[in-house]
Amino acid sequence: MGLQDDLRAQLIKQFPAEVIELAEQNGTRYYACPTCKRPVAKSDTTCPGCQQVLGWGKIKELETGPMGPRYATLKFEVAGDFSKGDCRKCPLSYIAKSATENVYECPLNLRSRCPIAIE
Ligand SMILES: [Zn+2]
Repeated sequence: MGLQDDLRAQLIKQFPAEVIELAEQNGTRYYACPTCKRPVAKSDTTCPGCQQVLGWGKIKELETGPMGPRYATLKFEVAGDFSKGDCRKCPLSYIAKSATENVYECPLNLRSRCPIAIE
C-alpha cells in the first residue's frame, strides 16, 4: 500500500502545478513549490525539493497582466512643416518654465525619442 501511494504521489507530480507566491515573516516575497512549499527559482521547471513539475503561467500573468502590455495610438493634425521631434510645433507639447527660459515639454516625456509617425 505504501509503495502504491508513493507511485501515485510521483505520478501526480508529473502534472504541472502552478507556482505560488509566499511571504516570509519580514515581508520578503518568494516563489514556492505548491506541493512542498520550498522556495523555487524562476528558472526551475521542476521543484528541486520534491520533483513536482512547476507551472509559471499564473505568475507570468500577474506580472504582465492577462493581456500583456497594451498600446494606444492617437491620430492628430500637425502643421505642414512639422517634423518628428519638433516639440515647438507639436500640438501635444506644453510650455514649461525652466530657470532661465520657457521650454516646450513633451507630455509623454519622449522628447528625444519622439514616436510620432507622419503620414
Ligand atoms: Zn516541491
